[in-house]
Amino acid sequence: MRDQELKVQTTCPYCGVGCGVDISGTPDDVAPVAGMKTHPANFGRLCVKGSALHNTLGPDDRLLHPTLNGCQTSWDVALNLVADKIRQVISTHGPDAVAFYGSGQLLTEDYYVANKLMKGFIGSANMDTNSRLCMASAVASYKRSIGSDTVPGCYEDLEQTDLLVLTGSNAAWAHPILFQRMTAAKKARPEMKVVVIDPRKTATCDLADLHLPIKPGSDTTLFNALLTYLHQQDALDNEFIANCSENIEAALEAASGAARDFAELAAITDVPEQDLETFFTWFKDTPKTVSFYSQGVNQSVDGTDKANSIVNLHLATGRIGKPGACPFSITGQPNAMGGREVGGLANQLAAHMDFSPADRDRVRRFWNSPAVAEKPGLKAVDLFSEVKSGKIKFLWVMSTNPLVSMPDADDVKEAMKHCELVVVSDCMANTDTTAAAHVLLPAASWGEKNGTVTNSERRISRQRGFLPSPGEARPDWWIISQVAQRMGYEEEFSYDHPSQIFDEHARLSSFENNGSRDFDLSGLVGMSQDQYDALAPIQWPVNEEYPEGRARFYDDGRFYTASQKAKFIPVSAEAPVRKESISSDTLNMNTGRVRDHWHTMTRTAKAAVLARHIAEPYADFHPEDAMRLGIRDNKLVRIFNDRGQIVVRAQVRTDQAQRKGEVFVPMHWTSRYASQARMGALINKDNDPISGQPALKMSDVQAEAY
Ligand code: SF4
Repeated sequence: MRDQELKVQTTCPYCGVGCGVDISGTPDDVAPVAGMKTHPANFGRLCVKGSALHNTLGPDDRLLHPTLNGCQTSWDVALNLVADKIRQVISTHGPDAVAFYGSGQLLTEDYYVANKLMKGFIGSANMDTNSRLCMASAVASYKRSIGSDTVPGCYEDLEQTDLLVLTGSNAAWAHPILFQRMTAAKKARPEMKVVVIDPRKTATCDLADLHLPIKPGSDTTLFNALLTYLHQQDALDNEFIANCSENIEAALEAASGAARDFAELAAITDVPEQDLETFFTWFKDTPKTVSFYSQGVNQSVDGTDKANSIVNLHLATGRIGKPGACPFSITGQPNAMGGREVGGLANQLAAHMDFSPADRDRVRRFWNSPAVAEKPGLKAVDLFSEVKSGKIKFLWVMSTNPLVSMPDADDVKEAMKHCELVVVSDCMANTDTTAAAHVLLPAASWGEKNGTVTNSERRISRQRGFLPSPGEARPDWWIISQVAQRMGYEEEFSYDHPSQIFDEHARLSSFENNGSRDFDLSGLVGMSQDQYDALAPIQWPVNEEYPEGRARFYDDGRFYTASQKAKFIPVSAEAPVRKESISSDTLNMNTGRVRDHWHTMTRTAKAAVLARHIAEPYADFHPEDAMRLGIRDNKLVRIFNDRGQIVVRAQVRTDQAQRKGEVFVPMHWTSRYASQARMGALINKDNDPISGQPALKMSDVQAEAY
């Protein structure tokens, strides 16, 4: 067994591109991984992170055994204790005193079981995940406008478009393989235009014909002004608007106040008039336009409105559902979309159903559920606030590190002390969050797990295990099912293999689905375990109409709203307002990824090669800010506010990469890798009132030489 030759195809566990990976060698000596040539996301390519995956395997730092208050215990003792505590909290305080906080690292099957337990059997919807930090605003905007959480296009659209507008996305570092595909497309067709809208001059700007270094928060104004311009230029698709949409008048009315002319818009956005005019002209004249957007849009107090201002432009010009023309939100995590497919956010029920009486009844009957949740649960920021207030008595954190990644991370750390029982299931032993747990449950990791993930173009791919789990680590779905069984739900959670869970998930997606729900896997119902094991990457839906999956939605002009028409959302066009008091020394802190690390580095820190690009935490400053504050290039700097402080190395950017009055800090380093670099401690808890997504890209800080 140990000497067997490996020949396994699986999926990269990092970003939302979802690249296929070929595994070879033996379990004792896994060969350097290779890109899977047949996977439609990457066609054989891998970025630096993906290429180093084989260096991240091995038992170092792994959580190997269940522990209770720091002492090793048995699975039986740990699982019984967790099940008993959930039951006791429900009977004493009600189901809403229980909460789960999950992760886009979970596989769809893990997510399904966790969501089913919480929303169908515990009877609360207090299950949120770190996807709230990533895609919630894009999701809310889609649901408001097109009626469903559906990315309309596919990766080929990024290559077939004539105008690619990247907003709030450093794709070159955050989604490298898609950026390589964009680069290759631009090389093949130099006439394809690329516009990057980003306060920073990032590596993505290397591909840009035009970079708009926009003032943070002025995006909605920019896009509303563009909508008004297109209207004035008679450049709207009146046939599409008349036949397939509603509410254009209200959107035009709201947009009309954005800016009187290019001079005023330039003053609001800090972008030169000429560049604004060029962008507007290109957009007007280019039917094949893709708007590609990410956390710079989503992670703000008005992220949903921002995203809707982008979707409005595509609806107004009929640029949706056509080759090379769509709004395209790109997700950060490998399985944020798979999580949402099962209902893994607090405001979703299951299989793209919500809490309407009809959906609740349908899901209750399908699950044979004794206590289906009645209403949406707490979104991430509110969830941890209620942990601190003492209302949440039991918290289970699954495969994520909120003590680093949540805003006001020190407050989240404090909140954990107010909980009667904190359970953390994770593959890693030593994270900031595992240190705060009463019970630790060892989970299987990438390379050991078996299930599915869905990438940013709705493509479901298999993650296949090729190594045994070390110690007593077990798959997440098994751990959650065991707790459910010990709560008395043996039959409903009697899974032996993830293929059974996937089948149930596919059956729920098609249960009483007469075409009114976009998410439909009826074509994958009834697969044998062998068929599941061999499942090739495929884009949902998979049903009678689309047996091979569907590349683009809305090419038929039919949307998932009640009227089946797309809805324009009027969004206000106000100049950005900083919420906190500002002194002349206050800087706006922006955050984001570096190229070669992933989230809180629990995996990427294991591969020495990945430290070659950027080895330590840093902060980018504008030269004038640095001079004013006495900060010198390559020296340590203290960045602080009322919530906390970090000490990192200053980079004084003389290449116009950093706007004046702003500072950029990468998100990855934790107290494990640098003693004072948890930038989450500085971030305020402001969040979008519609989506609940935290404004991770706008916090007021001060800085001084250290
Ligand atoms: Fe993995 Fe994303 Fe890199 Fe692809 S682009 S190899 S999914 S990190």
